[in-house]
Formats: sequence, structure tokens, C-alpha cells
Amino acid sequence: MIISVTGATGFIGKRLVQKLQAENHRVHVLTRSKSKAELIFPVKDFPGVKIAGEPEWKDCIQGSTGVVNLAGLPISTRWSSEIKKEIKQSRVRVTSKVVDLIKRAPDETRPQVLVSATAVGYYGTSETQVFDEQSPSGKDYLAEVCREWESTALKANGDVRVALIRIGVVLGKDGGALAKMIPLFMMFAGGPLGSGNQWFSWIHLDDIVNLIYEALSNPSYKGVINGTAPNPVRLSELCEQLGNVLGRPSWLPVPDFALKAVLGEGATVVRNHLWLPCHQSISIF
Ligand code: NDP
Repeated sequence: MIISVTGATGFIGKRLVQKLQAENHRVHVLTRSKSKAELIFPVKDFPGVKIAGEPEWKDCIQGSTGVVNLAGLPISTRWSSEIKKEIKQSRVRVTSKVVDLIKRAPDETRPQVLVSATAVGYYGTSETQVFDEQSPSGKDYLAEVCREWESTALKANGDVRVALIRIGVVLGKDGGALAKMIPLFMMFAGGPLGSGNQWFSWIHLDDIVNLIYEALSNPSYKGVINGTAPNPVRLSELCEQLGNVLGRPSWLPVPDFALKAVLGEGATVVRNHLWLPCHQSISIF
């Protein structure tokens, strides 16, 4: 396969590119910054990877077997009104561009599939409800972002197969949520926020990458798919496990000053949106 990937330089994208290369597929890294991408994917280690700046996206997409769309401004930054706008607009803008290029491709060079990221934030939060793919959308800001992001991707439906992956909190060693949580534990400041009863819908980095990989090649993957482990945990349980592994206490509630020391302005989003989602999602696994 030849796969074009937006957001390939990010936490999930980097692992996906490694997997695609290991399986002998060719990858087009669609990026806003070729110089950054070239550092992440040096030619000597990634001979099957082509780095493409925005003017080259058209030629890369037209001629690919499939497109994976992961781009978007990270949500774990301080939420000013400008940033909130960009969190949504960055996703809608890139998705819209990708869809447009797919639709304008001549039949013979049009990709067969678009696998587009979205998030379990679509459902809003609850400590009691179980959310599956048929559940209605929530009412908060992240739910609104996900709805618009998804409806933009779905405009490619009919031209190509579209699989929307509603991703839970991705856990992996070198980035994402754990990279923010581990320093807190190492400072003896890791522990649940509030009651600790909140649900934490998670997925391992390798599993989300394998799910995206399967969605690329398996025609039965279309429409919405929850990208979460089948066993969400309470926040208190996650903190207890993390504390055990790191040899640090996990029962202390996280104080604001510690969050801010590690995350700066990003503390706001972690406090309000990363550690508080309460999804009990049904996974396809
Ligand atoms: P990252 O934040 O690690 O990477 C996202 C990529 O998007 C960047 O590498 C960058 O690529 C591109 N990007 C960043 N800012 C902008 C912007 N303002 N406009 C356009 N593109 C931008 O994301 P993840 O790998 O963690 O996640 C991938 C997708 O999955 C994201 O859309 C995320 O919202 C979603 N998701 C992730 C979860 C997680 O726990 N990680 C959970 C739920 C959903 P470049 O600079 O090369 O263009």
C-alpha cells in the first residue's frame, strides 16, 4: 500500500509510520513543516517515507491507496478563546483539505479509504452511562469539536470508504498523557483528582496503531469505531497502578501548584479535560 498520513510527526503518527514501514508499505508524511519531519524521519532510517509539505499534498494523496488523518493542535495547552478556536479549526481545516483533494482526484488515482481520527470526547462525560458508537453526542466543547471534525471527514463518504476512530486516552512510553503524568508521580505529587471515581477510557499506543492499520486494509471497517480498550478504569485505579510501577504514592490528591509546575498553562486542560473524561466505551476488541 501507499499511505498518506497527516499529523504523522505526532505521538500516534510516528508509531504508525514505523509500523507501515515495517510491513513494507510506502508512506507519504503530509506535514506543515518538512524540516521538522525530516529530523523525525531521516532518510537513512526511513527509506520508504516521502516527506511532503502542503503544496505537495495533492500529488501524494492522489495516487495513495489510503489516507490517515491525525492532524490537529494538541488539546493539552491553555484554553484561551483563540486556542479553543484553533483546536477546532486546525482539525476541520486539515480534514477539509484532505477531503477536497480526495474528491477532486481522478477515479484512477483516488485513494480507497480515509481513516480519520476523532475522540471519545464526542460523547461528553458521565460516571454512570456506558457509551457505544450509537450513543448521542455530549454537550460540551470537546463534543462540539468532534462533531464538526467527524462531519467534515464524512463528506468523503461515497467517494471513498470512511472510518472514523473515536480515540480514548492513548498510553505509551514516550509521549501523550503518560509523559505528563509520570513527572507528577516522580515528584510525589501523583494521585487522583477529586473523588477518583471518574472513568478513564484508555488505549495502548500499539493497539490504536494496529486498529488504524486494520481499518486501512479491511473493508468492513467503516463509519464510527471506538478506539478504546474494552476495560476502562476508574481514575483512582489508574493512579494506584502507576504509583505501584513507579514506586511512588498514589493516594495524594494532585495539588494545583504541582500540576502547574510540570505542565504550566497546560494544567488547565489536564485538570478539566484529560483526567476527567468518564467514558465507558465498548471497544471492538
Ligand atoms: P499530536 O499532538 O502528537 O500530533 C498532532 C500532529 O498534528 C502534529 O504532529 C502536527 O503535525 C499536526 N498539528 C499540530 N498543530 C497543528 C495545527 N495547528 N494545524 C494543523 N496541524 C497541526 O497528536 P496525537 O498523535 O497524540 O493524536 C493524533 C490525533 O488523534 C489528534 O488529532 C488528536 O486530537 C487525536 N486524539 C489523540 C488522543 C491521545 O491520547 N493522543 C486521544 C484522542 C484523540 P505537523 O507539524 O507535521 O503538521
